[in-house]
Amino acid sequence: MTSPVIVWFRRDLRLDDNPALSRALASGAPLLPVYIWEEDLPRPWGAASRWWLHHSLESLSGDLARRGAPLLLLRGVAARLLPALARRLGAARVICNRRNDPAAAGLDRAVREALAAEGVALEVLAHGLLFEPESVKSRAGQPFQVFTPFWRAALALPEPGAPLPMPERVPGLVPPEPGLDLAALALRPTAPDWAGGLAATWQPGEAGAWRRLTAFLAEGAASYPRRRDLPAEDGTSRLSPHLAFGELSPRRLWHAARAAGLHPAEGFLRELGWREFCHHMLFRFPEMATRPQRAAFERFPWRQDPAQWRAFRQGRTGYPFVDAGLRQLWHSGWMHNRVRMIVASFLVKDLRLPWQWGEAWFWDTLVDADPANNPGGWQWAAGCGMDAAPYFRVFNPVLQGRRFDPDGAYVRRWCPDLADLPAAYLHAPWQAPPLERIGLAYPPPLVEHERARKEALAAFAAIKD
Ligand SMILES: Cc1cc2nc3c(=O)[nH]c(=O)nc-3n(C[C@H](O)[C@H](O)[C@H](O)COP(=O)(O)OP(=O)(O)OC[C@H]3O[C@@H](n4cnc5c(N)ncnc54)[C@H](O)[C@@H]3O)c2cc1C
Repeated sequence: MTSPVIVWFRRDLRLDDNPALSRALASGAPLLPVYIWEEDLPRPWGAASRWWLHHSLESLSGDLARRGAPLLLLRGVAARLLPALARRLGAARVICNRRNDPAAAGLDRAVREALAAEGVALEVLAHGLLFEPESVKSRAGQPFQVFTPFWRAALALPEPGAPLPMPERVPGLVPPEPGLDLAALALRPTAPDWAGGLAATWQPGEAGAWRRLTAFLAEGAASYPRRRDLPAEDGTSRLSPHLAFGELSPRRLWHAARAAGLHPAEGFLRELGWREFCHHMLFRFPEMATRPQRAAFERFPWRQDPAQWRAFRQGRTGYPFVDAGLRQLWHSGWMHNRVRMIVASFLVKDLRLPWQWGEAWFWDTLVDADPANNPGGWQWAAGCGMDAAPYFRVFNPVLQGRRFDPDGAYVRRWCPDLADLPAAYLHAPWQAPPLERIGLAYPPPLVEHERARKEALAAFAAIKD
């Protein structure tokens, strides 16, 4: 009999278009699907991601069991666990999909060596991107630093290959050991349980990803260009957490969107191109979450103000559009992209607190926390990324609010403490006449935007010189 194959799931919690699973199935060998809660990950998962992971594993494990292969759940160091498991099972191969985060991928080297010592091969397959990083280069053979030429060059390449089909059956093995119960990983919050808003908003897992994909292509894709910047509307796909956990492959998404008539050079697929750009960047700058891509920013005189930092995290900056975003994040684990841009600009430019603080806060609270997109977004906002907002572009949170939330529906939804304020003052409550402000429990602005903007420009100009 062919020796068994271990399929090691990581950020690919799905059965559809899963290269590792497909390769293992093609071998005809019996499979053992495994997930390891890795205790040596260079960057531990954030709290909202842990909540998502719990439910995603529950969904994957059910999908696998129904097809004949229960998921074995382990906790510890993969380089120790996998060789021992392979020995007990008599497995000659472990197959997995590549993680596109160089720090996590570094762990695979240790796993490969430990398995090799047991005579077991580790196969790591390309995964999670539309185009391989080394394939998108300028004519001079250099990687791109700017998005537009990057995406143009990517689109000149052959289209991403067709996705692999979802298997109907997965012939599995009875695990040689019982494995852990999912609850033993304690991924969900206990007291206080802050995840009620997450549970009310999302359906983690592959079925949830397909539901959202189908709904978006049927109802949202056509109006995406018009509605994508309006945070009060359900105008974007909200597929980001499903993509971040690998419950939906970008290749599947690409082909589904193309079949629905979307053009890759514009709109939705162009935004997906930003994901690609950030991930390609992460290959070049593995320290992107902590170090600025533009070295001059190492010298930036960031402020350290614990009180302002606390007010920011609580969504009590006194700027309604910013606070609505921060409260949406706290409640649902997600924030609209337009508002992420304003919120990030406010932290780094109005408050001049380090972008790394914001990145870490998002990492902890976003259900779509992504090792490339998150630092990519923060470096863009801070002006220190490769293709970043110029340092002199400081979003005005009041004008942005009036433009993208003109009737204040978004602010009213997330800041009920402002719900009774007339629309004219909703984005700048301090301008309301005193009578309108009676009983208002909303804080005054932490800083005066115009003054903060000038100070920020002076600080940015200094490092530029
Ligand atoms: C400060 C900041 C932090 C961010 N952190 C993250 C993060 O941790 N994880 C994350 O997935 N995205 C992040 N983004 C990018 C973007 O805000 C989200 O991808 C988007 O809001 C997700 O919603 P959606 O799925 O409805 O997007 P849609 O508009 O429907 O876009 C489809 C997909 O394209 C990708 N995408 C869209 N916009 C961007 C972008 N600007 N950069 C990279 N990829 C993009 C995402 O995978 C998204 O799911 C961040 C942006 C900023 C400004």
